[in-house]
Amino acid sequence: MAQNRRPRHGGVVVDVIVAGGGPTGMMLASELRLHGVHVVVLEKEAEPSEHARGLGLHVRSIEVMDQRGLLERFLALGKRYPVGRFAGIDKPAPERLDTAHPYLLGIPQNLTERLLAEHAIETGADIRRGCELAGLSQDDTGVTAELADGTRLRARFLVGCDGGRSIVRQLLGIAFPGEPAKTEWLLAEAQVTAAPQELDAVAVEVRAAGVRFGPAPHAEGFYGFVVPAAEVAGDRTAPPTLEEFRQRLLTLAGTDFGVHSPRRLARFGDATRQAERYRDGRVLLAGDAAHIHPPLGGQGLNLGIQDAFNLGWKLAAEVGGWGPEDLLDSYQAERHPVAADVLASTRAQSELLSAEPGPRAVRELVSELMDFEEVRRYLIEKITAIGVRYDFGGEDPLVGRRLRDVKLKRGRLYTLMHDGRGLLLDQTGRLSVAGWADRVDYVADVSEELDVPAALLRPDGHVAWAGDEQQDLRSHLLRWFGAPVR
Ligand SMILES: Cc1cc2nc3c(=O)[nH]c(=O)nc-3n(C[C@H](O)[C@H](O)[C@H](O)COP(=O)(O)OP(=O)(O)OC[C@H]3O[C@@H](n4cnc5c(N)ncnc54)[C@H](O)[C@@H]3O)c2cc1C
Repeated sequence: MAQNRRPRHGGVVVDVIVAGGGPTGMMLASELRLHGVHVVVLEKEAEPSEHARGLGLHVRSIEVMDQRGLLERFLALGKRYPVGRFAGIDKPAPERLDTAHPYLLGIPQNLTERLLAEHAIETGADIRRGCELAGLSQDDTGVTAELADGTRLRARFLVGCDGGRSIVRQLLGIAFPGEPAKTEWLLAEAQVTAAPQELDAVAVEVRAAGVRFGPAPHAEGFYGFVVPAAEVAGDRTAPPTLEEFRQRLLTLAGTDFGVHSPRRLARFGDATRQAERYRDGRVLLAGDAAHIHPPLGGQGLNLGIQDAFNLGWKLAAEVGGWGPEDLLDSYQAERHPVAADVLASTRAQSELLSAEPGPRAVRELVSELMDFEEVRRYLIEKITAIGVRYDFGGEDPLVGRRLRDVKLKRGRLYTLMHDGRGLLLDQTGRLSVAGWADRVDYVADVSEELDVPAALLRPDGHVAWAGDEQQDLRSHLLRWFGAPVR
């Protein structure tokens, strides 16, 4: 596998176009660059967003950053919070969660995007801002992207990471079934003339009446508000006006707090949809382009980062010519069910937050059930995505799951995975990856936290095989990493 981290310029065909430079696109670009793939990211916005949608990273995304040597940067800008919350129900974290990072990292999405963009640039991705994808066509050898300015760019593959209204998905005609928004919220960042004590007191009253209402102090004298809208807007792309927002405050809180000078007004809804297919020939979808759901539980950004982490090495293997036949299609096979599960979980959380008597009674029951350690563990493993287990066949419960960062005699596992290669952790010292050494690292070491003789890890940290038989290992190396080099 090529480890060239510099982009190749000068008439060389682009390997992969990533349409959309949000968190999913930037993560994917750097994953591809780790394997020497020539990547161009087309981002329609000329400047990065200053606004945060997502507010944090869950455990699995924190681990992903650790696996690529990025965690220190995230920890420096974020704040750790306990895990344990589901559908707004706060309970203690389950004991001995299967991770070295049992916390939620609060970090605004714009900072996450900045760090991921910096990493993509460091790895050598060619990021082109102010470039909007307007059309595409594909044939047997590649994809031609048409840009809004009339220019064209050709690549071997294209990945649509262009958000919930993905033009890539629309151009491919991929169905996006699900439910339209039934409820909408208005989001505003604005200044107020009211005193902080008044805001706090009114917020308590409004919430007591069962209305979700969240004024939160931001930097520079601004407040962030989320209030339910009166109805779902006809044109959901148009931001609300200050007047519309003010009227909602008056209706819900009986005061508008003297709100003025908004620096952001936006609306978001609870539409829940998933692309029927994640691939059409040489074009793939990832992140919000492939699935949307209400932000309850804060999983959308996390899901997109994890899509990219799953897809990156597989697409690199296809481009590099060593990918086994079904490897690229395993992206949809593995990730579609994971997103479907998140959609189901957010639907359930939406119901649990309803002020109607039936859902309130169910919420009470769920809250009581969450007093059981194993119920909490189940829910938290789900929301943090550390419970994800891909179906690789076989009975071993470790196979298909990602391995947490275990302590080795000589260091930590994740520090050995920064380059995005496969890894054989061999506690027997007898096994070999000869023939695959260009794609898979061999580490002979031991860990008190690992009770299998040896584990073969894919570049995304999921356990592809566990055992101690060289022949068995060989068949799994073939399955995931293709033919050996002679
Ligand atoms: C209010 C709110 C709160 C949220 N809170 C959370 C949270 O706490 N945690 C969480 O995990 N998630 C949260 N989310 C969801 C999260 O914001 C999204 O899931 C995440 O941004 C998806 O990332 P993405 O890269 O797939 O898509 P996006 O972030 O939408 O990025 C798509 C990119 O593609 C670009 N683009 C679009 N069209 C084109 C084109 N034609 N050509 C070129 N570029 C194009 C866009 O400019 C954009 O930069 C929240 C969402 C909302 C609305």
